[in-house]
Amino acid sequence: MHAARNDDWPAWLASARAWLVELAEEGVERVELAPEAVAADPIGELDASPSAATDRSSPPLSLFEPAPAWSGEATLESVRAELGECKRCRLCEERTQIVFGDGNPRAELMFVGEGPGAEEDRTGLPFVGRAGELLTAMIEKGLGIPRRDVYICNIVKCRPPGNRTPLADEARTCGVFLDGQIAAVQPKVIVALGKPATSLLLGRDVAITRVRGTWQDYKGIPLMPTLHPAFVLRQYTEENRRAVWSDLRAALARVRESAS
Ligand code: URA
Repeated sequence: MHAARNDDWPAWLASARAWLVELAEEGVERVELAPEAVAADPIGELDASPSAATDRSSPPLSLFEPAPAWSGEATLESVRAELGECKRCRLCEERTQIVFGDGNPRAELMFVGEGPGAEEDRTGLPFVGRAGELLTAMIEKGLGIPRRDVYICNIVKCRPPGNRTPLADEARTCGVFLDGQIAAVQPKVIVALGKPATSLLLGRDVAITRVRGTWQDYKGIPLMPTLHPAFVLRQYTEENRRAVWSDLRAALARVRESAS
């Protein structure tokens, strides 16, 4: 997590909230606060007393809302051209390069992740680091289809500093290009990897451990939310591996059903 500049306080708060929600979903029940953090607390946000909880007058921050729809020509080339050397949000400041997407422009199965990590930022390709190796193995060894036959991209195209979760405004700004990619590829099924991708595509904050494995819909396209491979690597349990495996098999079966 990055230190907040004063004018960036709402963004920082949203990022901190997203991080805490993720920890809670991973089963973490307690986070110790350093005494100096409590002493420096500028607006009493760290006061977890019941009155502090009820006194809040502002509505809870929503992490993700629906992104605007793509309205231009829907080909991957035209979406990429419109994106250009994007400077629409703060993520441009620390990226090495834009990571647009990879795979078959007519893929029947599309995977949407969160945002590029270090290796993706270096190579310009999505999902080529450790989480990517796991995703590639699940697609190739698990589902038995070459990675080049699916299409893979992320909700944001630039690496968030320190691999933090994309903020709501970043996801919304970039979300229009994701919508364009989906309109261009027209997959039969979308697999949303993890909470941020699922929340952005559904236009509401979701608890990924609750919605994974259940069919959802993105503009008429069946959408299967599942656990992010980075989460599976962190919590490498039989249960998590089985869950993702079952979700991916359901996604492939749905693709095959729609072809028959
Ligand atoms: N995690 C993601 O969500 N996307 C990538 O491209 C790599 C890791």
